Amino acid sequence: MSKIAKYLNGHIIGEVSARETRLKQFSTDRSFLKIQPELVVYPRFNEDIQKIMRFSWQLAEKGHIFGVTTRGYGGSTDGSSIGKGIILDISRHINKVKELDLRAKTVQVQAGANFQKLNLAIASQAMEIPQSPAGERLTVGGAIAMNLPSEKFNYGDLVNSVSEAEVVLSNGDIINIGKISRKELSEKTALSNFEGEIYRKIDTLIEDNYNLIQQIDGDSSFGYSGIANVKGEDGTFNLIPLFFGSLGTLGVITEVKIQTRYIINETNFMVVSFSNRDDARDFNDEIAKFAPDIVELFDGKMFEAAVASGKKYQFYLDRNSQKLATKLVLVVGISDKNAKKIASKMHKIEKIANKFEGSTIWIPEDNEHSKAELESIRDVREILRARSGVIKQEIYPIQGVYVPMERFET
Ligand SMILES: Cc1cc2nc3c(=O)[nH]c(=O)nc-3n(C[C@H](O)[C@H](O)[C@H](O)COP(=O)(O)OP(=O)(O)OC[C@H]3O[C@@H](n4cnc5c(N)ncnc54)[C@H](O)[C@@H]3O)c2cc1C
Repeated sequence: MSKIAKYLNGHIIGEVSARETRLKQFSTDRSFLKIQPELVVYPRFNEDIQKIMRFSWQLAEKGHIFGVTTRGYGGSTDGSSIGKGIILDISRHINKVKELDLRAKTVQVQAGANFQKLNLAIASQAMEIPQSPAGERLTVGGAIAMNLPSEKFNYGDLVNSVSEAEVVLSNGDIINIGKISRKELSEKTALSNFEGEIYRKIDTLIEDNYNLIQQIDGDSSFGYSGIANVKGEDGTFNLIPLFFGSLGTLGVITEVKIQTRYIINETNFMVVSFSNRDDARDFNDEIAKFAPDIVELFDGKMFEAAVASGKKYQFYLDRNSQKLATKLVLVVGISDKNAKKIASKMHKIEKIANKFEGSTIWIPEDNEHSKAELESIRDVREILRARSGVIKQEIYPIQGVYVPMERFET
């Protein structure tokens, strides 16, 4: 074990690993990039994280760079959850759903919890977070740091439902962030510590660059675009939007409070596949009037590869029997509190799909088998990954954007 690993192991309650196999495991995420860290640390509580951050900070002050990369599930598709130095895996222990306040309809959750755990815990009280991103394994901290879009279109994004967050800063200090008044901002900027410095500098940055910041699209995914939403017209101040899309660079998010609501809608799904990209686009345009909550687009090649490895999907079997090529597959989800309205919309969408020659429609039945099959379709990347370890031709599910079909031509 390296000297540093031994030193840190003696100072934190959580675990520190410098084993080669562990370092290899953490040298990749879901991108094609690879960087092997020197240590993997599993903190057990905030003090552990604080000690790790302080250690790295003090080394940096002496000119030695031993960076810390926070990691949740490690599903990042852009290499942001790998790094040299220390990988701080908060998903192992900092993952508790702490409190569901039914009166305030909020849930207090640690950032290493994944959405499956969180949503299951609150569903037991008939609550949901409609802004949850797609993907059950990804963590709350990862979703915030990546500013992931929500799975469903019609309820806004996660950034709108996180009201408080606890963050360990790069020097090891802990701060609590959320919306504060003009008066509270004055108190914060008067602080003589790192927190005070952060509030002072960000406030000055916003004031000095007001016009420029006004032009930023605050809803864009990356690059600190949330700066556009930090200061309100009324002088209120909220650092939370800045953490959305910050890729772990501003601090370690340890805990957040998220707004929930009672589950009122059910979602029905339909899998529609096309032999032709233009048809898929036209179908997509036509069904927009039904405001589907979910539209996910998959390259047919992904299913070809999955079928070649032995998978059987009903929609693919239907197409095979009709000798149809599968260019694009759309998964459409319709939600409403009224089952009749869902049925009516589904019927209309089915009619539209039928207009396109070479399209097939599969509507999962209301049973466990169908639900599992639908899940496996939406998670087709996992099947390909299990098959080859690497996906060479992945097209990521596209959410909330329009991409001309020509762009998919290879
Ligand atoms: C535009 C875009 C859209 C995507 N949409 C989806 C989607 O809808 N569904 C899906 O499953 N995947 C999606 N992904 C992939 C996505 O990147 C990962 O699923 C996502 O990172 C999930 O969280 P994670 O726990 O795997 O985070 P990780 O991969 O572990 O970390 C991602 C980033 O968050 C930082 N981070 C993690 N935890 C914390 C924390 N507690 N505090 C501070 N920083 C932290 C990491 O340092 C890293 O920069 C999308 C990727 C992109 C680029």
